[in-house]
Amino acid sequence: MDCIFCKIIDKKIPSKMVYEDESVYAFEDIHPQAPIHILIVPKKHIDTILEAKAEDNELVGQMFQTANKIADERGVAQRGFRLVLNCNSEAGQSVYHIHLHLLAGRAMHWPPG
Ligand code: AMP
Repeated sequence: MDCIFCKIIDKKIPSKMVYEDESVYAFEDIHPQAPIHILIVPKKHIDTILEAKAEDNELVGQMFQTANKIADERGVAQRGFRLVLNCNSEAGQSVYHIHLHLLAGRAMHWPPG
């Protein structure tokens, strides 16, 4: 499978790692949209959130727990942060391996663009 995030997880493509455990990998986004922009990715390849099954519930929960932990470590948990998960083209998904964007360090606007 030709997936850029699988290659990053396998360390075949370099990344600025933020966190890793047996099921989740987190790294700095290459085109940051905020002072803090970190991608939280399950090691299991899932194309879009639509393909996440009930058996993946724990894994999806681990992605959110990882986001909480990183937000806390970066000192933005209380200030505020935004988690974004794009699904399919109209939402702007460009990499088809699910990932949470953790965005923080500036005031966020609503509605999002
Ligand atoms: P999305 O558009 O929601 O699929 O998000 C994909 C994200 O992956 C974008 O924010 C890209 O900047 C980021 N991205 C793509 N390639 C890389 C890479 N090699 N290293 C880090 N981030 C990447």
